[in-house]
Amino acid sequence: MTTITDVRARQILDSRGNPTVEVELTAGEHTARAAVPSGASTGVHEALELRDGDQAVYGGKGVTKAVAHVTGPLAEAVRGLDPTDQGAVDAALLAADGTDNKSQYGANAILGISLAAARLGAMVKGVALWEHIQQLYGVDTPTLPRPMMNILNGGAHADSGLAIQEFMVFPKLGNFADNLRAGAEIFHVLKRKLSAAGYAVGVGDEGGFAPHIPTVDEALKFIMEAIEEAGYSAGEEIELALDAAASEFYAGGKYTVDGRTLTAAELVDFYLDLMKRYPITSIEDSHHEDDLAGWQQMRAATADMGLQLVGDDLLVTNVNRLKMGIEQGLANSILVKVNQIGSLTETLAAMRMAHAEGWTTVISHRSGETEDTFIADLAVGTAAGQIKTGSLCRSERVAKYNQLLRIGESL
Ligand code: PGA
Ligand code: ZN
Repeated sequence: MTTITDVRARQILDSRGNPTVEVELTAGEHTARAAVPSGASTGVHEALELRDGDQAVYGGKGVTKAVAHVTGPLAEAVRGLDPTDQGAVDAALLAADGTDNKSQYGANAILGISLAAARLGAMVKGVALWEHIQQLYGVDTPTLPRPMMNILNGGAHADSGLAIQEFMVFPKLGNFADNLRAGAEIFHVLKRKLSAAGYAVGVGDEGGFAPHIPTVDEALKFIMEAIEEAGYSAGEEIELALDAAASEFYAGGKYTVDGRTLTAAELVDFYLDLMKRYPITSIEDSHHEDDLAGWQQMRAATADMGLQLVGDDLLVTNVNRLKMGIEQGLANSILVKVNQIGSLTETLAAMRMAHAEGWTTVISHRSGETEDTFIADLAVGTAAGQIKTGSLCRSERVAKYNQLLRIGESL
């Protein structure tokens, strides 16, 4: 048996210029590497991302403690284990940490090892990462996901002033490469249109434009026109998806959108009105992560309309939160972010529970990313069906789409 012999880690920078953890594991002649992503609009129920807190260094965002945990106690826990046995590796990491939310050693430390182990396991077996994940997850047919591409940024990812965080085009042209091409073509037309209307065309954290457009409605109008001008039919070929990330515009029991202050029920009406006028088929985090009554109203109001209601901050890739979401009828889809829960095995468990309930799954990047393309393989190996990994620019976003093009050649 080939076992893990060496564990190295370092602090690198993510796409926002903040430190993050990178891990390298060695078994026999193989060495695998993984880097950990980081969110901005993080959910309060996520596993703990350990930061040094020393304000004089990287504004407190250093991860040297997490790196030391990787090379110290966590390395000790996984050395000698078989990297192809992901369950055993993750169980050892969780047991070493011993807390519910990975606050002892940090979810960023634990996830770095977990992801690197999966990549190492694939190398030892001599298969592609997506194939190894397929075997771990146990699906018959790996598939390329349908991409949700975030071409206009608001919320915590931009200073555009828009409450809604992500405006995504969601093509359904039949194959991944065509969907990607549509996204890129629409992105370029949108840039031209925004620029012609006098808006700035600098991009936000996920590579979408971040213009100071006054209202959600106005933003959607621009996108609709860009779709048509790019030669596609909105609704037929290109649907729209929103991530409201509503926890970010919620205070004192109310939601502030477009300068209006809304109750949870009025916010449902706001979305219903948008859905009447635009081909929006997926809405993520429509309500605050703990406004369960708001979620229930949203789900009840849209259940017959075929809306995919996606829980991100609500569910945090956590089987306990997901169980609550299923029992209370809060959503019908889960966003999957490996660093929300902090290990691959737990991520797969959440996806398994979702799929068993007939829920859909959307694999997701974080707003702080690296060049690591793990989630592309994860989406294929689990036949997740959908992925959102940002816009059609910025290499940390496009890297995932490019990896999917590569994987597509061998499917
Ligand atoms: P985050 O945003 O990575 O900043 O949390 C992504 C999302 O909300 O889906
Ligand atoms: Zn989200």
